[in-house]
Amino acid sequence: MWFQLTEEERMIQKTARDFARKDLAAVVEEANENGIFQDEIYKKLGELGFLGMTVPEKYGGVDFGYFCLILALEEISRVCASTAVVLSVQNSLVNGILMKSGSEELRAKYLPRLVTGEILGAYALTESEAGSDVAAIRTSAARKGDEYILNGTKIFISTGDKAGVIFVIARTDPDDRSGGLSAFLVEPGFPGFSIGKTEHKMGLNASTTVELVFEDCRVPAGNMVGEEGKGMRIAFEGLDGGRIGIGAQSLGIAQAALDEAVLFARERKQFNTRILDFQSTRWKIADMAMNIDAARLLVYRAAKLRDQGLPCPKEAAMAKLFASQTANRAVYDSMQIHGGVGYTKEFRIERLFRDARVMEIYEGTSEIQRLVISRKIIKEYEQMFPA
Ligand SMILES: Cc1cc2nc3c(=O)[nH]c(=O)nc-3n(C[C@H](O)[C@H](O)[C@H](O)COP(=O)(O)OP(=O)(O)OC[C@H]3O[C@@H](n4cnc5c(N)ncnc54)[C@H](O)[C@@H]3O)c2cc1C
Repeated sequence: MWFQLTEEERMIQKTARDFARKDLAAVVEEANENGIFQDEIYKKLGELGFLGMTVPEKYGGVDFGYFCLILALEEISRVCASTAVVLSVQNSLVNGILMKSGSEELRAKYLPRLVTGEILGAYALTESEAGSDVAAIRTSAARKGDEYILNGTKIFISTGDKAGVIFVIARTDPDDRSGGLSAFLVEPGFPGFSIGKTEHKMGLNASTTVELVFEDCRVPAGNMVGEEGKGMRIAFEGLDGGRIGIGAQSLGIAQAALDEAVLFARERKQFNTRILDFQSTRWKIADMAMNIDAARLLVYRAAKLRDQGLPCPKEAAMAKLFASQTANRAVYDSMQIHGGVGYTKEFRIERLFRDARVMEIYEGTSEIQRLVISRKIIKEYEQMFPA
């Protein structure tokens, strides 16, 4: 186990930190308050290489790997979690799935435009009757000549209205619950595709979350990702990477909550004493810092395993579960340290509090992470101690 970042890793972390504290910080409050999606920010992130972190140079990426991606995600999320979710979906899910399961033709067609930010990517799994239960997906895909015809509605899709390419899971076999799903790449210009309602959310308001509607939507057969019937496996492999990304996004929020707590408590006085000097404040600060460090180690481990090409569903689930809980505990305690002003929009902790909540919900709820972890642990015990 290592504890030091290499020079290259430190350089990437610093580049992300500088960008977040300068370019992003300049627009973040207005963007989140007024629900503005910052198109220009993604162009700049593309120029810096942050939209192609795991993509080989052959397709225009920088190929620094997952570990460097999560270093960058934490720094971006520390300033704006909305920007981090766009970055995480694009790198971990869309680019990651294309690299693992996409044909050479699909990689060459989409990756060079994704990595520059010319287009953004989205990942569409969820439906009204299929949230945690992915096998309940109803959106259908029927082969007709050299096309598939998609019908159905996806909900809660991050960046769905801004994306130039969307990874979609649809049902190619109505009789096979989990083996009947296949993966496609859909462009918004394909006939029969439209954007439905936009969600008005509690947080992450500088990112968009929308419904996607497929009405006899014609998708070239060549835009199927992997083989027919392998959609569920492909989508879940992508989610292992995605969950590490949400772990890093949670770390950024948790770290920002700690930053705000210490800076506030240093200034505010009651009973002629700095809030920082009350023992109850110090305990909260110690617990926050300890949990953030533990979460960081879990996220780092999962990313390193991913970089080594090793399967890591349990480690990714542990990283996401622990980091997202840590983020929610940290914003709660930080707001408590702020007192009443923390509940107002004057202070950044109010936005962090709202942004943190969904970390325990999307890309698999905390309950689903516990299912993934416990299933793997029980299997390990069955192998160690066969009945
Ligand atoms: C802001 C936002 C952005 C999102 N972005 C995307 C996106 O880009 N792409 C996408 O495809 N989806 C996206 N989602 C959807 C998200 O992934 C789902 O909301 C999530 O997976 C949970 O599904 P659900 O909302 O249907 O809840 P449900 O599955 O209905 O769960 C409700 C409750 O029941 C619990 N539960 C369900 N099944 C079990 C079980 N077997 N055991 C124990 N408890 C269980 C859950 O943990 C939860 O507490 C997004 C959601 C939000 C809010």
